[in-house]
Amino acid sequence: MNPIARTLLKIQLCLAAVGIAFSLCAEDRGLVDTTSSSSAQIRTVSLDEAHWTRGFWADRFELCRTQMVPSMTRLMEGTNYSQFFRNFEITAGIVKGQSHGATFNDGDFYKFLEGASATLAATNDSALQKKLDDLIAVIAKAQETNGYIDTWIQLHQRGGETNIAPFQNPEHFEMYNFGQLMTAACVHYRATHETNFLAIACKAADFLCESFENPTPALANNLICPSHYMGIVELYRATHEPRYLDLAKKFFAMRDLVKDGGDDNQDRIPFQQQDEAEGHAVRANYLHAGAADLFLETGDAHLWRSLSEIWTNVVTKKMYITGGCGALYDGASPDGSKDQKHITRVHQSYGRNFQLPNTTAYNETCANIGNVFWNWRMFLASGDARFMDVVELALYNSVLSGGALDGTNFFYTNPLRVTDPMPVDLRWSRQRVPFVGSFCCPPNLLRTIAESSDYAYGKSSDSIWVNLYGGSSLATKLSGDTEVKLSQETDYPWNGRVRIKIEKCGQDPFALKLRIPGWVKSASVRINNGAPDISARPASYFEIRKAWKPGDFVDLDLPMPVRVMEANPLVEDDLNQVAVQRGPVVYCLESPDLPAGVKISDVRIPADMHLTARYDRWLLNGVVVLEGRALAQSQMDWNGTLYREMSRAELNPCNVKFIPYSVWQNRGRSEMTVWLPRAN
Ligand SMILES: [Zn+2]
Repeated sequence: MNPIARTLLKIQLCLAAVGIAFSLCAEDRGLVDTTSSSSAQIRTVSLDEAHWTRGFWADRFELCRTQMVPSMTRLMEGTNYSQFFRNFEITAGIVKGQSHGATFNDGDFYKFLEGASATLAATNDSALQKKLDDLIAVIAKAQETNGYIDTWIQLHQRGGETNIAPFQNPEHFEMYNFGQLMTAACVHYRATHETNFLAIACKAADFLCESFENPTPALANNLICPSHYMGIVELYRATHEPRYLDLAKKFFAMRDLVKDGGDDNQDRIPFQQQDEAEGHAVRANYLHAGAADLFLETGDAHLWRSLSEIWTNVVTKKMYITGGCGALYDGASPDGSKDQKHITRVHQSYGRNFQLPNTTAYNETCANIGNVFWNWRMFLASGDARFMDVVELALYNSVLSGGALDGTNFFYTNPLRVTDPMPVDLRWSRQRVPFVGSFCCPPNLLRTIAESSDYAYGKSSDSIWVNLYGGSSLATKLSGDTEVKLSQETDYPWNGRVRIKIEKCGQDPFALKLRIPGWVKSASVRINNGAPDISARPASYFEIRKAWKPGDFVDLDLPMPVRVMEANPLVEDDLNQVAVQRGPVVYCLESPDLPAGVKISDVRIPADMHLTARYDRWLLNGVVVLEGRALAQSQMDWNGTLYREMSRAELNPCNVKFIPYSVWQNRGRSEMTVWLPRAN
């Protein structure tokens, strides 16, 4: 942003703060905007530059626009389940009432506003924009004159609870709420060019700058569930206000003030000394994403060292095959440590290395989305395709699994195996439900789907990076203001053939960089029906640099044979078992697809099993299923028995049909498993 535009933005923010609405033609409008980030290798494209047009992601975006946004608007405005918007209305003095709901409801309401704003960038839906403006006006009215805003605290104070005050109890989740406010306001600003929401976020950030001027250990304790690192850095990017970057640095340094910290909030040891993912997986991944944001702005090599080591720990020892994070419901961390005095209680937590239970896997949808946020920023900092592999893996599997195909029911946890009966009674439902008391995941999923097209492309000075495949269009500018328009056509992830067509370009050469996923064995690239080039390597970007002409096209072929996977033998829960994957999609076996009388636990997979891929347009809104013949052994009644002499019952052939893991449990109560024992 040039100095004149920056000054103009400041004037407009001041006017917006006193209620005079203004819009700005923003220059920098990506979801995570790295246009001016000193350590970014990749610049993001603006929210309105990349759109899904047809196919898998276009269908998800349409579901988000037509089902998720309207139904969540009703839920957030209503009071049937909890109070989200109503708490703001009461705080603003518009209606009478009392605070109701969790301390983090404000933050989850902001996430919903962010997702709804992102859909505006693609749809220009004036009715939705008006609705958002109305909601934002009430938030502005609820904000204190000093910039503080947290309805739970404000309403409890007004209710006479004199012992309630800002930033005194980490369980009040104020910093989480502030962080989500800042991120949501940036996305709203970039999607709509309006500064009304951004002005609220700036006023709140100014309050934080003042309140945390001289941090104490007690204040530092409040940096819990840290969405605020991402939020304040993004606000710095949106406004170019250096105090906000200083505050981000201060927040990070403050972590070291925490006394008697633990892995439940990753403050047992300083971040720069961390080399493993420990503790609460949502908080850990938000912290990692925030640290990556700070690295993008500062280039601090200590941050990158820790991030790289933690990342290697996660992908080689702690991440599920679905990209899910957080193996444990409840535990102690660092579990098994020789240094017992530093062990603390943790919940929804990363486990020990290779501790990846399937039935009791937690994998909160928010942790899996946090994995996307983190890896996206690592990619922006490096251009390394391995990070986009994780983004893709998580999106197709452990993120989309968080929502039902109807767009209105949600999982909180994402296990890899569900049996009937379950071995243990767990506190979260095995079925997707419209509401849970911790309503953090549904609006998180909504915003991730609404913003998914922004992950599909990136830019560097004379290159366009194609990160995700899906029917889409891109209209952007490269350096020198050269306009480039391209379109992408593909049935990915159901097959790996992709055509990218140049619709508009300048005279100067530029590069198309095509992501070759790590699971590919042999990719081929053809330009304008020319000879195929098979030199592309997996887990890299294949560069085609030339002077393009409108009408030029590139055909990329990423063959997708069915892959039967096995886990490192140190993963006890997967020992002698296999899972099935095709392209980026992880498959599962669900009980409705088994012959009558066969249970999930009966099925064995022969080493030479052949699976055939078939697109079934009538099943689960259209999916590729994998069909073959496995073996089944009927189980004797184990009731009351823990061990017995091995059964030698015969194995009988059994037809099986695998479906994508993300769409399981859309046909009522069922059994499901990703990992299955080998027959031989
Ligand atoms: Zn969640």
